Amino acid sequence: MPAERLTYQSRREQASEALRARGLAALLLSPGSDLAYLAGYRVFASERLTCLVIGADGDATLVVPELESPRANAAAPDLAQRTWGETDDPYALVAQLVTSKGGVAVADQMWALFVLRLQAALAGRGFQLASLLTRGLRMRKDKYERDALRAVSAAADRAFARVLEHEFSGRTEREVAAELATLLRAEGHDEVTFTIVASGPNGASPHHETGERRIATGDTIVLDFGGTRDWYCSDITRTLHVGPDVEDEVRQVHDIVRRSQEAGYAAARTGATAASVDAASRRVIDDAGYGERFIHRTGHGIGLDGHEHPYLVRGNEERLEPGMAFSIEPGIYIPSRFGVRIEDIAILGDDGLAEPLNRADHALAIVR
Ligand code: ZN
Ligand code: ZN
Ligand code: ZN
Repeated sequence: MPAERLTYQSRREQASEALRARGLAALLLSPGSDLAYLAGYRVFASERLTCLVIGADGDATLVVPELESPRANAAAPDLAQRTWGETDDPYALVAQLVTSKGGVAVADQMWALFVLRLQAALAGRGFQLASLLTRGLRMRKDKYERDALRAVSAAADRAFARVLEHEFSGRTEREVAAELATLLRAEGHDEVTFTIVASGPNGASPHHETGERRIATGDTIVLDFGGTRDWYCSDITRTLHVGPDVEDEVRQVHDIVRRSQEAGYAAARTGATAASVDAASRRVIDDAGYGERFIHRTGHGIGLDGHEHPYLVRGNEERLEPGMAFSIEPGIYIPSRFGVRIEDIAILGDDGLAEPLNRADHALAIVR
């Protein structure tokens, strides 16, 4: 990853500071986005323990299986390492590195396999979720992260523009999804994470599992797709219609969703609560009489993870700040008929306003 090493060092210093502020001894991070964020090291999770130990005293050590040491060294040459061989006890090694008083915070998605062993090795210490400390850091994107999110969103926009060029009618959802995946890669994604193609009545299921349904004239289609470039995620949704003869209700519902999204944008500014953005988007749909059919929150944060803090959801009184990136994605779902969703990624700029990172046309796209 082409970020400066200094950044990881300063992020780790901030993490240590957060530990001290909460009276915790250490942060224990297994493979995942917190580890990537604080060490520049992305590695698959496996039954062999990899664990970054960041102490309240400012020390940081990567506990790593011997066979993965070269890989870790290449990714994070500045980081102290303790390697363990196949017959060593890596949990005892982690416990030795926790020297301050207090509890520990473990990666939110650390496997139970590791958590239970670490609880035994660190008996008597309280365990908390790492996100208590890392969410505050990761939510406020720095310049490098903002640029990475801009680049990956622009790549998703280009993939969307190209997928519109081909005929939809007659192809299965799965065939369109495969084309989308190819286009995402061609336009600069390193990985494709998901490609939802929800046609006709399938559009009423927000997380439809793309399948063998054959697309036909008259279908409304929800396309929701994304992946990563330089580790940062894209996520965009647009709604299409096959053929120019669009039912009145589809047009009306699309218009409501579009106005709902615009209301979300207008509400998303520095100092507003996450819940207030959800409320602004929801009000448009409620007022139009479709409130019962908007069955999910308005948005989620995005960065190294596809879904992360802040969540734009009722009850989240967290205040938005410059550098926060999130989706604004209202939808209306009419069971057994169709669905409409429009989703962009937006980022709060230093001017306090939401900058759209997706620029693809929001109108109902008419395809063949
Ligand atoms: Zn979703
Ligand atoms: Zn999405
Ligand atoms: Zn999303």
